[in-house]
Amino acid sequence: MEMSYITYESVNDCIKKLFGNSVYIEKESRVHGGDINDAFRLTLSNGESVFLKQNSKENYSFFISEYEGLKALCSTEKINCPEVYGIGADDRTGTSFLVMEYIEPARMSISSQTDLGYQLARLHMSDASAFTKGGMPFGFFRNNYIGASVQINTLKKSWIDFFRDCRLEPQIKMAEAFLDSEQLKKCGVLLGHLDKYLEEPAKASLLHGDLWGGNVMSDTEKRVWFIDPAVYAGHHEADLAMTQLFGGFTPAFYSAYNEIIPVDPGYKDRRDLYNLYHLLNHLNLFGRGYLGEVLSVINHYV
Ligand code: ADP
Repeated sequence: MEMSYITYESVNDCIKKLFGNSVYIEKESRVHGGDINDAFRLTLSNGESVFLKQNSKENYSFFISEYEGLKALCSTEKINCPEVYGIGADDRTGTSFLVMEYIEPARMSISSQTDLGYQLARLHMSDASAFTKGGMPFGFFRNNYIGASVQINTLKKSWIDFFRDCRLEPQIKMAEAFLDSEQLKKCGVLLGHLDKYLEEPAKASLLHGDLWGGNVMSDTEKRVWFIDPAVYAGHHEADLAMTQLFGGFTPAFYSAYNEIIPVDPGYKDRRDLYNLYHLLNHLNLFGRGYLGEVLSVINHYV
């Protein structure tokens, strides 16, 4: 599947094409919280607000991939994601940008957590085949990013092959400098017997892919939102596992999710293995602070 997108020459160009030529940016307020991009709320002269993410022009591909991920999630009509208004690279300022619907943040309530659980489960139940190819249901039609790392989405027939070749193995390769020969040997053993722990799902699910607490929001109208995805089709347990890695999801979330998708008894033995991907990615991006956790998961499975 190839997705198309409209690109703009500048943020102003995007705003004027969307809202009309007379509309201009009245106020720009920085939004903190992300670790990759500069983020702003833009208040427009017509009273509307939009959310702007900005980076250097060289990093434009991050925004293309975020745009395509959000569009894929939106297209299922199962979960609520902000609409992307446009992306572009501005030669004059040397920046790239993504302009999207502004979410007025509010505290996450119990009922918001329930909504998140239902929405995620409905996403996981829906048909993901539009984003892959017949006979190769795991992966995505393009690579994207997990944080600042490239996330490989080569389509595969088998989920276990996909998780080994496109998830663990590339991260282990990147982490070689942190691991001694004994530890690398254990990684090889682990990659060789993933089928001892993992199972092929009954069907591939479209996944958010980067589901930590910072990537869900609720707004002042009590709606919930999924943001900043690293979308691909895979085993739904991989998304569920990540919600348990860094916290931010409450019992209300899990009971709603499990009403639609009951927990498989073997899930608890697979969860840490799925999260090893994210721990390795954190080791590669943020350094040795994550080495202890990475090694304890590897030692558990080998
Ligand atoms: P990064 O890509 O740098 O990680 P995020 O997408 O996480 O950036 O966004 C940074 C912060 O901006 C988040 O912590 C979130 O609170 C806020 N945010 C993200 N998307 C929106 C939005 N559409 N409207 C309002 N605030 C948003």
